[in-house]
Amino acid sequence: MAGITHTVTNQVPPLVQYDVFGSDRALVEAVERHLTAEAREDGLAELSALGHTCGSAQVQEWGVQANENPPRLRTHDRYGHRIDEVDFHPAWHRLLGKGVSAGLTAAWGRPGGHVRRAAAFLMWTQVEAGNCCPLSMTHAAVPALRTDPELAAVWEPRLTSMVYDRALRPAGQKPGALFGMGMTEKQGGSDVRANTTAARPLAEDGTYALTGHKWFCSAPMSDAFLVLAQAPGGLTCFLVPRVLEDGSRNVFALQRLKDKLGNRSNASAEVEFDGTWARRVGEEGRGVRTIIGMVAATRLDCVLGSAGLMRQAVAQAVHHCAHRAAFGGKLLDKPLMRNVLADLALESEAATTLALRLAAAYDDGGEQERALLRIAVPAAKYWVTKRCAPVAVEAAECLGGNGYVEESGMPRLVRESPLNSVWEGAGNVQALDVLRALRDPATLDAYLREVGRARGADHRLDAAIKDLLTDLADLEGVEGRARRLTERLALVLQGSLLVRHAPPEVADAFCAGRLGGDAGAAFGTLPPTLDLASVVDRARPLS
Ligand SMILES: Cc1cc2nc3c(=O)[nH]c(=O)nc-3n(C[C@H](O)[C@H](O)[C@H](O)COP(=O)(O)OP(=O)(O)OC[C@H]3O[C@@H](n4cnc5c(N)ncnc54)[C@H](O)[C@@H]3O)c2cc1C
Repeated sequence: MAGITHTVTNQVPPLVQYDVFGSDRALVEAVERHLTAEAREDGLAELSALGHTCGSAQVQEWGVQANENPPRLRTHDRYGHRIDEVDFHPAWHRLLGKGVSAGLTAAWGRPGGHVRRAAAFLMWTQVEAGNCCPLSMTHAAVPALRTDPELAAVWEPRLTSMVYDRALRPAGQKPGALFGMGMTEKQGGSDVRANTTAARPLAEDGTYALTGHKWFCSAPMSDAFLVLAQAPGGLTCFLVPRVLEDGSRNVFALQRLKDKLGNRSNASAEVEFDGTWARRVGEEGRGVRTIIGMVAATRLDCVLGSAGLMRQAVAQAVHHCAHRAAFGGKLLDKPLMRNVLADLALESEAATTLALRLAAAYDDGGEQERALLRIAVPAAKYWVTKRCAPVAVEAAECLGGNGYVEESGMPRLVRESPLNSVWEGAGNVQALDVLRALRDPATLDAYLREVGRARGADHRLDAAIKDLLTDLADLEGVEGRARRLTERLALVLQGSLLVRHAPPEVADAFCAGRLGGDAGAAFGTLPPTLDLASVVDRARPLS
């Protein structure tokens, strides 16, 4: 037996058995702010229970296992019959089962349902981002399905049932079901008008046969998909079930699974349709309008997902620096590390606060809040998701060499971090969507009313609003500067929310660093005269 060569010291204890909800003060305060009295007690209790689950060793281990054992495609059974199934590690099913039973697909119609679900989604992403993809698409399919009451009557109770039933069976035999979506084809994803998948009417009852393909189709073991295809009247939305009512399999040929940078627990397939049975949703030629309700909801989930990834990255970084010593003191107390951590914490809190505000607008559902969502969702999808990768990378660096090693969990966060900016419309597409939203004066009115609530509270915010108005006054040639404009819209909205709701030290640092031009391009360049210690202390997770 080898002798003892050294004593292990100064290694950080794992961040485990902690309350992911209770130790995220920005999240708790946002939930308390937005939940109505009717939903508050129940909502907080439910989220607190989920927070403990998310921090448990068991659930963290499932996240690791689901990523270390990625899904495998089985096109045929042993006798050569096509089955087009994907095998997942048991940890994937456990995660998905927990996610469904925690209400991650059950927001619609519950009091405060969207805020509760948003907070839950933000936490669940921290455990494992891959299984959040089917949870998101299932949640988001509801508004699109509601455009057809007959389909909604069959599917909505199953999508929102909180029961995970993984068996491929006809909808009528299932207590719970999952949904996916198929829009992207080889020749075009952002520009779905380029879709070539053809839909041939079978009968007057809205049934069609699809022929063609989808280049990306995630969560292919879902029960049904909303798919875009070209019908005689133009691009149309269809519901494609995997199993037909008589129990036979619909044609849904899984060609390959993508070998992806991250999100490796989740399967993303290439699919071919060949006479595939489909039921029209909405009118022919109005496919984009029908599916847009689903896209808007998944875009908000991209914001929530990125807010969750950033929160986990910051929690790990602050936890590490609170325990790790170098050069005679804890890293947390070193002025330069404190600056880095505070800067990261600001980004995380701004993302959480904005994401929960938008979820509350869904719960409200009024005309003004819908107008705000129309502009604020693409702006937030652009900005918050784009901040996620630099935050994850910088947070990993806070752990030094350990942060580059798989066991720390940071590499998985880094791999996940760019994805929310790509799917559901990449950055440019969001910025261009903001320009489209601006064509309706009601959206800008709603936005200005919202940020105007903080006017007069901070001179840097006031100046940023003024600059933004100057920018908006002349939209000549705006396409080439749509990113800059969208960034400003998002930053001013974040600043206004933090000035109204966050502790003064957080709002002050955000206004100085993000609106006042008092910081450099890298993290850790905030003016050191700010109360950065309090900003970091607020972000510290307690186990
Ligand atoms: C892991 C993963 C899973 C996915 N799952 C699904 C799924 O389940 N279902 C599904 O339908 N899709 C899915 N997608 C596809 C995804 O939504 C698309 O990749 C994305 O929308 C971009 O489309 P594209 O790849 O065709 O790129 P393109 O449309 O070719 O865009 C390429 C780049 O050009 C930019 N661009 C586009 N138009 C303009 C313009 N007018 N001006 C300036 N810039 C522009 C875009 O912002 C982007 O950066 C998935 C993608 C990934 C990575």
